[in-house]
Amino acid sequence: MSEGQLPSNVHMLKPRTMSLSDRLDQFLEEHALAPSEIPVRRDPTRPKAPGINAIRCASCGQMEYLSRDHCRCGHYLRGQLEDEFLAWEGQIVELHERLTETVQLKLRKLRYFNLIGLPFVVLPLLFLTFFSEGLSLTPMVWVAVGIAVMGICARVEQRLREPVEASQRFLDSYTLETYLAERWQL
Ligand SMILES: [Zn+2]
Repeated sequence: MSEGQLPSNVHMLKPRTMSLSDRLDQFLEEHALAPSEIPVRRDPTRPKAPGINAIRCASCGQMEYLSRDHCRCGHYLRGQLEDEFLAWEGQIVELHERLTETVQLKLRKLRYFNLIGLPFVVLPLLFLTFFSEGLSLTPMVWVAVGIAVMGICARVEQRLREPVEASQRFLDSYTLETYLAERWQL
């Protein structure tokens, strides 16, 4: 009997408390405001975080100048940066693939919709060719509807393809410098 009451209260309260504290921790971590970070930020010989010329050493957790091959703790920063670059590279390729997949799916649906426009164009033309003696207006209206449907489809398709093409251009042109410029803003 008491089991029915207790879990309902526990479920309401516990996850909320946890999630708030987790969020706060995450916020402090992201903004480098956690107590352990304060001495690091005050060290004038270290670069400011986050910054385009700064990298956080994976070994000691302190900020170090990007131009240095080794952190002051001896950790090989060049290797760490390369690892981070490779991970980023994998991430953007994965994002591109996911985007392409989503757009392909939408394009496939759009092609079915495009087929709806086809009979509007073809049937009146057949009618005009084989059965109509004079130039009747009604079949021409149907043709116009068909062309409008197909025109809308073509425009929607173009708009759907744009982000994929932009993403592909980025994939074709990015370099390590692109990553370095974007890295600290991520
Ligand atoms: Zn270090």
